[in-house]
Amino acid sequence: MRLLVTGGAGYIGSVVTAELLGAGHQVTVLDDLSTGHADAVPDGAEFVRASITEADPVLAAGEFDAVLHFAAKSLVPESVVAPELYWHNNTVGSLALLDSMRRHDLRTIVFSSTAATYGEPDSVPIEETSPTRPTNPYGASKLAVDHLLTSYAGAHRFSAVSLRYFNVAGARIDGEDPARSLGERHATETHLIPIALQVAAGSRPQLQVNGVHYPTPDGSCVRDYIHVLDLADAHLRALEHAVAHAGGGHLICNLGSGSGSSVREVLDSVRRITGRPTPAVDAPNRPGDPAVLIASNDRAAAELGWRPTRDLDRMVADAWQFYRQHSHD
Ligand code: UDP
Repeated sequence: MRLLVTGGAGYIGSVVTAELLGAGHQVTVLDDLSTGHADAVPDGAEFVRASITEADPVLAAGEFDAVLHFAAKSLVPESVVAPELYWHNNTVGSLALLDSMRRHDLRTIVFSSTAATYGEPDSVPIEETSPTRPTNPYGASKLAVDHLLTSYAGAHRFSAVSLRYFNVAGARIDGEDPARSLGERHATETHLIPIALQVAAGSRPQLQVNGVHYPTPDGSCVRDYIHVLDLADAHLRALEHAVAHAGGGHLICNLGSGSGSSVREVLDSVRRITGRPTPAVDAPNRPGDPAVLIASNDRAAAELGWRPTRDLDRMVADAWQFYRQHSHD
């Protein structure tokens, strides 16, 4: 297939692009490099440096079969202090992209949604039918796009799959050429596993465990971590699903492992895998952090035939290998 991947210079978009190319698809990456890296665009993909609001000429020229839409702002704390960035980039930008698609009679899309659309759950595991009550503008800006897709599927025959990611981690390691490995390289790092690896490597003094009195077995927050390669596999399946349902429909699927790991369990894994001491200190709760977020992945299993296969140690091991290859970047 001929595919347009928005955000293909970012962490998840670049890994999915590499897997799409490996599966024999032709890929054009559209990315404005506001947070992505040009050298993360895999060899073999065509690269257009432009924002999603400028997709029209690319779609006009391309004869694409489908769009995989990753491009977005994704820092929760930033979304709280500068919500306009999130409404413009994530919601208004996606609307512009969908309208460009309509103009060119392209109606098949896989969209990067998020567990942040649910907010604080009443119970876990979280099902796709659980209430959506986002607690920050990031989650709200993504939920709005999910609603957009539902209405475009109903009114304009879009065939869409929204994938709600839980905590994505790990890397795509290229065994032959480390320069072609793909992983997390955020200028502002807020995620637990990359921060813990920086501590293990000695480039940060210690990890702050954000909250140690939660109602969880060890008092720290529990999250559902998913390997980026398992996530990529789900995208290839979602693409097939969307193509097979051309003519209209919107499927929403959680992507998580279905089980949780606490901050302390992640820290134990980092110590085990790296063999480094990795000091940690107790710290206050991070405002807005729910105690436990775990996905039900039953729908992804039923609808996409998807099951994640890589465990937390594998995520940490791959992220560690990537970190050591790229820490000089
Ligand atoms: N966390 C932590 N110390 C850090 C970074 C994160 O204790 O330096 C915790 C955070 O409070 C949350 C979990 O690790 O409970 C996962 O956080 P992350 O930012 O990776 O993902 P989120 O669940 O917020 O999307």
